[in-house]
Amino acid sequence: MFTILFVVALVAMIATRLWLASRQIRHVASHRNAVPDGFRDTISLQAHQRAADYTVSLTRLAMLELGVGGALLVALTLLGGLQWLDTLLSGWLGRGYAGQIALVAAVAAIMGLVDLPFDYARHFVIEARFGFNRMSRKLFFADLVKGTLLGALFGLPLLFVVLWLMQQAGAMWWIWAWLVWVAFSVGVLILYPSVIAPLFNKFEPLTDVSLRERIESLMHRCGFAAKGLFVMDGSRRSAHGNAYFTGFGAAKRIVFFDTLLSRLDGSEIEAVLAHELGHFKHRHVLKRMIITFALSFALLALLGWLAQRPWFYTGLGVTPSMTGSNNALALILFFLVMPVFLFFVTPLTSLSSRKHEFEADAFAATQARAQDLISALVKLYQDNASTLTPDPVYCAFYYSHPPAAQRIERLLARARA
Ligand SMILES: [Zn+2]
Repeated sequence: MFTILFVVALVAMIATRLWLASRQIRHVASHRNAVPDGFRDTISLQAHQRAADYTVSLTRLAMLELGVGGALLVALTLLGGLQWLDTLLSGWLGRGYAGQIALVAAVAAIMGLVDLPFDYARHFVIEARFGFNRMSRKLFFADLVKGTLLGALFGLPLLFVVLWLMQQAGAMWWIWAWLVWVAFSVGVLILYPSVIAPLFNKFEPLTDVSLRERIESLMHRCGFAAKGLFVMDGSRRSAHGNAYFTGFGAAKRIVFFDTLLSRLDGSEIEAVLAHELGHFKHRHVLKRMIITFALSFALLALLGWLAQRPWFYTGLGVTPSMTGSNNALALILFFLVMPVFLFFVTPLTSLSSRKHEFEADAFAATQARAQDLISALVKLYQDNASTLTPDPVYCAFYYSHPPAAQRIERLLARARA
């Protein structure tokens, strides 16, 4: 019964995603030969066509990745891959913590290896073809090694604590696990700007005095205090530009990619930053964090319940052990299968994210000139080769940011008002 539910959800998810992707490809390709109204003065036909080709290439790769990911999921569950791994590893290491941690690590390694060629192709085939990739192969693999080591350093102790709680804390273990998870996430957020991010990039204080003054006066007007303004060497990896806030509480920082600073002028940078400050003013970061924690509470409660049901294992191609612990199996199955069901909530999270973007734009228009934000957006769309003509359904489903035309339309209305 559960098998049928899972298969129906998986087929529905894959079919929906392929349908959305093919809509997007068709829509972008059919608008390839004309720059949309409103952009004719700022975006050349050549840039527009490049963005179309780039979008189509990325979408095609994502379709391929979806097919392979779906096949791997079925191989691990219904075709008995996980059962086989479990028998093998528990034969060697038993069903204690070592055996269970090895099982989780083995599944994570397999998923990482299958993902690797796609990641590689994204950087060295697609991004390289369109002139975005700045990353050497050496840096790609150095990042991979660092990322894996960090994942192990943080992930393995967390995994051990969760397995220990599942074993020792009784039926309500999942409440404890949730508390540990919340503490862990907050800890990572605190450590990220000063400890983790510098392992991958260089951060230098912003030295441009006139830009500093401009930004500090904007922050002062908005009543915002940050620990520092930093420039990050994003150009080591990619030509794409960005700016972001990181950390929270007293550890807040504003980080600009060097690629962004080199492309935008002072007033445009101020407008982009005003948009980011809008996210803070509206407490979007906090709201998203609370929703994430609430959702993980509900999911852990569900896992606490599912882990006790034999059909949860047998329905997914695994025979639970009668004598030893099945906790690692429960964790793995849950994290493999949950995204299939959660996929159908994507439109809701995208919708709420797009609403936040409009709110941040509106805030920016009160603190900086709307016209500056518009010209910054056009430059960013052009530099990132984001399509100006996405399929409306694809966009409604996935886009975390509203399409350029919609954002600019609203900003223009504000500029005129
Ligand atoms: Zn935003």
